[in-house]
Amino acid sequence: MNVFKKPVVVVSRCLEFAACRYDGARIEAQFIRELEPFVEFIPVCPEVEIGLPIPRDPICIVQTDTGLKLIQPSTGQDFTSQMLNLAEGFLSELKDVDGFILKSRSPSCGIEDCKLFAPDSLETPIGTISGFFAAKVLESFPKCRVVSEQSMQDPNTRQDFLQQIFTAARERAVIAME
Ligand code: SF4
Repeated sequence: MNVFKKPVVVVSRCLEFAACRYDGARIEAQFIRELEPFVEFIPVCPEVEIGLPIPRDPICIVQTDTGLKLIQPSTGQDFTSQMLNLAEGFLSELKDVDGFILKSRSPSCGIEDCKLFAPDSLETPIGTISGFFAAKVLESFPKCRVVSEQSMQDPNTRQDFLQQIFTAARERAVIAME
């Protein structure tokens, strides 16, 4: 009996799929190309999904008195609500997902290494934090493996990730047959 199901992996769209970064760039990620025949990718660019153009002025995470905000310093615009709504809506629609590969250091997709700024000093970070979209991923899918493209450069992390997503996909297939 063949119970193989392709793992479903959500991926930051700027990794190989589209030139959607704030500077109009696409990030090369060879392992994503290599995985493509074996994995069902769901590419998403949260910043484009909330209506930001390509290219665009960068946004950043700011610690304010009323909590974390996603701000575009050049315009002063606050994209916090849009990003939270997008993340919650997109993630709640996901049914079967086995893993996430997210772009490091992005204020939207970075898992834990985004720069955090104080309102009065947008030049020098005061720490690091999860990006807005990534934070919702971690909250909504606590059992899923979530990695960055940077951590996937490490062979052990890559092997571990692959093992987990293929195991998760197989378990889904078995459950679906019951
Ligand atoms: S890091 Fe995320 S939000 Fe930024 S360009 Fe890539 S997919 Fe879009």
